[in-house]
Amino acid sequence: MTQHYDLVCIGGGSGGMATARRAARHGARVAVVEQDRLGGTCVNVGCVPKKVMWNAAHSMDAIHRAAGYGIECAQVTLDWPTLKARRDAYIRRLNDIYAGNLDKESVALYRGHARLLDSRTLDVDGVRLTAEHIVIATGGRPVIPDLPGAELGIDSDGFFALDQQPRRAVVVGAGYIAVELAGVFAALGTDTSLTVRRHAPLRNFDTTIQDGLLAMLPQEGVDLVTGFMPASLRRADSGRLVLEAADGRRIENIDTVLWAIGRRANTDDLGLDNAGVETLENGDIPVDEFQNTNVPGVYGLGDITGRVPLTPVAIAAGRRLADRLFGGIAESRLDYANVPTVVFSHPPIGTVGLTEAEAREIYGDDAVTIHSTAFIAMDYALSEDKRRTRMKLVTVGEEQRIVGIHMIGVGSDEMLQGFAVALRMGATKRDFDDTVAIHPTSAEELVTI
Ligand code: FAD
Ligand code: NDP
Repeated sequence: MTQHYDLVCIGGGSGGMATARRAARHGARVAVVEQDRLGGTCVNVGCVPKKVMWNAAHSMDAIHRAAGYGIECAQVTLDWPTLKARRDAYIRRLNDIYAGNLDKESVALYRGHARLLDSRTLDVDGVRLTAEHIVIATGGRPVIPDLPGAELGIDSDGFFALDQQPRRAVVVGAGYIAVELAGVFAALGTDTSLTVRRHAPLRNFDTTIQDGLLAMLPQEGVDLVTGFMPASLRRADSGRLVLEAADGRRIENIDTVLWAIGRRANTDDLGLDNAGVETLENGDIPVDEFQNTNVPGVYGLGDITGRVPLTPVAIAAGRRLADRLFGGIAESRLDYANVPTVVFSHPPIGTVGLTEAEAREIYGDDAVTIHSTAFIAMDYALSEDKRRTRMKLVTVGEEQRIVGIHMIGVGSDEMLQGFAVALRMGATKRDFDDTVAIHPTSAEELVTI
């Protein structure tokens, strides 16, 4: 028998869940199809377990700094299996909460793999569904490089499956995941190298962040290896791994190699051709500003669109789409400009708006004024470990409207959200100057630069 819905969301991750729940609140008859655990990448193998690991690493950092305050923490050890077991249990609780939320909103849940049969019909492991509107929110998966022995390494999913802490790990890649997981490994006591194929990680970020991170990585305990193009991975007679670069450089005695070289959209086994939905060569589905694909009634959301692949973006785009389709708000759509984002390094990185280079390109050198500062946050006042905070405001025009805020340093993660609101509202340097500082904090530097 075929079940009919107003909306079916393929994927019970950040985007699919948010769209389904908002549509149901508007009174639509909705179903979600999920082939794995509810919550998708973010809840199961992304933001949430990553932040748990970051919190553990942050605690370890704080313990090391405690000595500076005369606090002796003898015998600091990490019980990795206990940390993993508690983290897994926490995530299972979230999976249950997600299922409960669908139930509460009367959203039907189909467990299985969805394939489009045409632009209105889906097959879910033999069950047939039809819908007026179909949302594709199937997320992505890690890319593994095509080189000999690559299968001996793990990816970020494998990181969260590690039962034991590796003694020696090499993280390959230069993006968010590489920086975050290398930092976690190192802070938790794994001897860690991060290899990048060019000169630095996070090359798309503002230079303040790139420079700050380059200075910070050795302090985090991460050995950065630059210009390293991986060529092969093999297991030596000792049982440990050997990673070799194209130029012959070799890193030996490794327990774990983690590939973090990017992700690819889960769009290859979705029957998109049956519905005539266009994809790009990299697997992404192009959408317009309203999340429409090239096929009327079929929409794309979240990581599969290749646009700002972050959880709150998938959620926000999904909710706005549901408001448009079922809430009577015809113009509802997400503005993808000025999305704030944090990289959870140690300490973290926060950024919103244009980099200095982007602002100069868009507005011209003469229109751009930069305000920057660097200082040692008080967190490090009494410890030998001194990690420098760096902040930059990018402003344009005579009124010095703030178009970019970039920082690396303690508290950047929690500091950024409010400042992102100010940037979106069009705040100027004068507004920042007129705001009384909160002392003593790192945040006050942003209004006293
Ligand atoms: P997903 O959340 O991936 O959901 C897609 C769902 O679709 C999955 O559950 C999948 O099983 C299901 N699916 C796929 N194909 C089918 C099919 N054919 N039938 C049925 N179901 C299907 N973002 C942040 O904002 N902050 C962070 O700190 C952060 N940390 C991250 C850390 C890591 C290690 C990773 C990998 C990602 C992180 N992200 C973070 C990114 C964030 O997880 C993604 O942007 C977000 O999950 C994308 O949501 P989505 O709905 O597009 O896809
Ligand atoms: P990214 O796209 O951020 O980074 C991958 C990088 O790896 C590339 O930019 C490239 O950098 C490098 N690379 C690519 N191919 C190779 C190769 N063959 N060998 C060596 N290096 C290579 O991907 P991630 O997987 O790290 O993250 C995916 C997305 O998930 C992020 O963009 C982010 O949106 C999201 N995310 C968000 C987080 C957060 O909000 N805190 C945390 C984690 C993920 P280069 O060209 O410089 O070599």
